[in-house]
Amino acid sequence: MTARTITSLSNDTVKAVRALHMRKAREDSGLFVAEGLKTVIEGLDTAHAPRILMHGPDAAASSMASRAITATLAAGGEVIEVTHDILAKVSRRDNPQAVVGVFPQMLAVLSDVVPGPAACVVALHRVRDPGNLGTIIRTADAAGCGAVILVGECCDPFGVEAVRATMGSIFAVPIIQTDEADFAAWRASWPGSVVGTLLEAEIDHRAATYRRPTLILMGNEQQGLPQEMSGLCDVNVKIPMRGRADSLNLAVATGVMIYAATD
Ligand code: SAM
Repeated sequence: MTARTITSLSNDTVKAVRALHMRKAREDSGLFVAEGLKTVIEGLDTAHAPRILMHGPDAAASSMASRAITATLAAGGEVIEVTHDILAKVSRRDNPQAVVGVFPQMLAVLSDVVPGPAACVVALHRVRDPGNLGTIIRTADAAGCGAVILVGECCDPFGVEAVRATMGSIFAVPIIQTDEADFAAWRASWPGSVVGTLLEAEIDHRAATYRRPTLILMGNEQQGLPQEMSGLCDVNVKIPMRGRADSLNLAVATGVMIYAATD
């Protein structure tokens, strides 16, 4: 079942997979690492087969791992048995997952976003925190959003931390990277409401009209949404802050907005 076994940390394939923790190596190769059986199976179930599947010595005992191995081989991917130490290095964790998959990155483009079937699409301006981005992709998947659009210089959705936080939803939601000018031009023909989020907005998010499909704009963790982006919106709303905190975490605020727009 297994094609080959690697036991040396200095093996070239091991080095290449470890290098995928760096953005440059991901950009050069167009690949990314997804850890854990749940995520790998999520990829396989959505027609994203790993190029490489690394698994530990115990994988044969797991029916799910056997399924992932069989499906990877059937799709032409390489299956490699590795030591626990190699799995730990590849995932940079003392307690690594039982399998690690190396997948081709899949980015969509703005013209792929068909307004209609999904009630909501989310655009994030200059999101910086990979945990926030992964959590938002997971939430967008859970709520049935049509896409997550990354506007301007954002963190990498295919970084290990972001992919981890998606819990497999990286394979389910189309992700688009674009710049402010192309986003503004594309937004001009959006048929539903375009709703921005600002701490200083007058309108409560529950009072806004969300004409479907709704396009929601969220701002950067430090700077918020700049005027060049909030000015593209039909309405800007705030989520009430009742205590001493001056803002919500970006991923939490995005979750609130997504469910306000889709309920
Ligand atoms: N200092 C930033 C500011 O002035 O906007 C705080 C940014 S906040 C941590 C990150 C993003 O989450 C904001 O740009 C906005 O999109 C959203 N957000 C957080 N709390 C919000 C609230 N109470 N109402 C509306 N949006 C909020």
